[in-house]
Amino acid sequence: MKIVMLGAPGAGKGTQADRIAEKYAIPHISTGDIFRANLKQGTELGKKAKTYMDAGQLVPDELTCDLVVDRIAQDDCSRGYILDGFPRTIPQAEFFTAALAERGEKIDCAIDVEVPDENIVNRMSGRRACPDCGATYHIVYIPPKKEGICDHCGAALIRRADDEPETVLNRLKVYHDQTQPLIDYYKKEGVLRPVDGTKDMDDVFTDIVKILED
Ligand code: ADP
Ligand code: AMP
Repeated sequence: MKIVMLGAPGAGKGTQADRIAEKYAIPHISTGDIFRANLKQGTELGKKAKTYMDAGQLVPDELTCDLVVDRIAQDDCSRGYILDGFPRTIPQAEFFTAALAERGEKIDCAIDVEVPDENIVNRMSGRRACPDCGATYHIVYIPPKKEGICDHCGAALIRRADDEPETVLNRLKVYHDQTQPLIDYYKKEGVLRPVDGTKDMDDVFTDIVKILED
């Protein structure tokens, strides 16, 4: 089961990817999480990625592609994986298709979580993230049981630096210019499956499970 999650920043890719990963016991690979973990550990990659992330720009392909190919070569990916936030450009998708082809593999399903731009700023301004375990909440739609505290590990929740409204607008522009063309790319590959991401989180998940079980 090799799944790619497509959709604008804030569409709910990570939220759904977490649940799919749990249900099917496959790893959830988020390039954004990998960059944030590197930043926290103070690695060279983290320092390089930060400048792009803070500006709402994409980290260059040469810092991103090999990292994903190395990750999917690890043992825990042998039964499949769910990619969240990668690929994000046509060159990344082409690189990844070729890297998979070398292993005699291909993506089984690209789930496009559709949410209009007008909902995105609202979703991202209310997003809160756990800096320790990566869990994601929304102050109105998906609140933690105790305000400001992660349900899973008890850490204090934070607001991501790149969720400020000006950065969100940049990220949306970058999405439309560079990532949205992937919808056509995966349609041509015959694996695109759109879902209505404006529904309640549980309903979106039900729709995705139906697609995967088909
Ligand atoms: P992405 O990974 O696509 O950037 P997230 O999964 O982090 O998006 O979701 C963005 C924000 O929207 C988070 O605050 C999350 O809790 C919230 N969210 C996710 N799915 C839904 C939904 N179906 N309805 C309302 N809010 C949602
Ligand atoms: P995300 O957590 O998916 O919202 O990603 C946060 C930020 O990390 C993005 O705005 C980019 O700066 C960077 N990033 C994540 N994935 C990629 C990718 N595949 N290519 C380039 N940059 C990425």
